[in-house]
Amino acid sequence: MSYVRPEIAAMQGYVPGEQPPPGPFIKLNTNENPYPPSPRAIAAIQAALTAGLQTYPDPLATSFRNKAADLLGIAPDWILCGNGSDELLTMAIRTLVGPGQTMCYPAPSYSLYRTLAEIQGARVREVAYAADWSLPNLRVPEDDSPRLVIVANPNSPSGTCVPRETVRQWARDCPCPLLVDEAYVDFADDDCLSLVREFDKVLVTRSLSKSYALAGLRFGYVVGAPDLLQQMMKVKDSYNCDRLAIAGATAAITDLEWLRQAKTRILATRQRMRGQLMELGFQVPVSQANFLWCTRSDRPVQPLYAALKDQRILVRYMHYPNWGDGLRISVGTDEQVDTCLDRLRTLLNENHTCHA
Ligand SMILES: *Cc1c(COP(=O)(O)O)cnc(C)c1O
Repeated sequence: MSYVRPEIAAMQGYVPGEQPPPGPFIKLNTNENPYPPSPRAIAAIQAALTAGLQTYPDPLATSFRNKAADLLGIAPDWILCGNGSDELLTMAIRTLVGPGQTMCYPAPSYSLYRTLAEIQGARVREVAYAADWSLPNLRVPEDDSPRLVIVANPNSPSGTCVPRETVRQWARDCPCPLLVDEAYVDFADDDCLSLVREFDKVLVTRSLSKSYALAGLRFGYVVGAPDLLQQMMKVKDSYNCDRLAIAGATAAITDLEWLRQAKTRILATRQRMRGQLMELGFQVPVSQANFLWCTRSDRPVQPLYAALKDQRILVRYMHYPNWGDGLRISVGTDEQVDTCLDRLRTLLNENHTCHA
């Protein structure tokens, strides 16, 4: 396709998590929240629908910014909203990384970072996590002079967190802006929000998709110094968040009690699930997110993924060149998780018998 920019023709394109075929499926592959969202969010969306969709939405989602600013203890101009936090990643890269320039991130991590860099015609420098998913220092070769460093914290697929103090050191040593992708932070013990006050080059992105159970609504926000956000605003679509999303998101973040209950349930299931997966012989790092990264050294896990899928249970199989592979399993309801664990137990026993 000679009409197409060479960068686009050469790239593979992001592959979103598989959507199950029709029929009942237990879907544990894209880290959605298994519980319905806050009833207040639904009511606010219905009210917005009744009020009408014939006029454009507020380009800045002011109602959300004001509420979020109150909750986070910052001024509203430190917040910029997006059509999912994926859009905020796009805005940050468009604003900060030019064609041919370098973007850097610890890997394995969220595969969208590479896709967005490729669209921009930027170069990617991946810095490998240690085998235990620690990363004491994030050294980027000087000659690369990166324009942006992105860290998913908690990370995917590992679910692990780098301590805030380590992120602070990276921010201090880093010659360029540092974006902390906190899509899963509501399931974690700590966050890096305070770093945006300390450093005018730190950005923190958040999502309503996972912890607030609103993946279908598409809403996220970034927190950062107003000067930087004003530049990012120039590259966004004028009406990037629609009326329904703004209404639903604004109601959702103020329902603190709903979030607390959803978090309590998911964390309890996560802990039980991790123990049982380890009993089944998986290695599972301690997770600060709503999923678990399951690997094993005694047998390949790809056949387990395939066998679960045949039985209408979808988990995410991930393979990283020079790193290894594993299953990333979302924390569903207790019932979903128990079904998945039962099937895994049977599959592992069956195979054991075959080999004997
Ligand atoms: C799910 C996810 C996002 C994107 O979330 P949206 O708000 O739905 O766009 C961003 N980063 C990571 C690491 C994620 O897993």
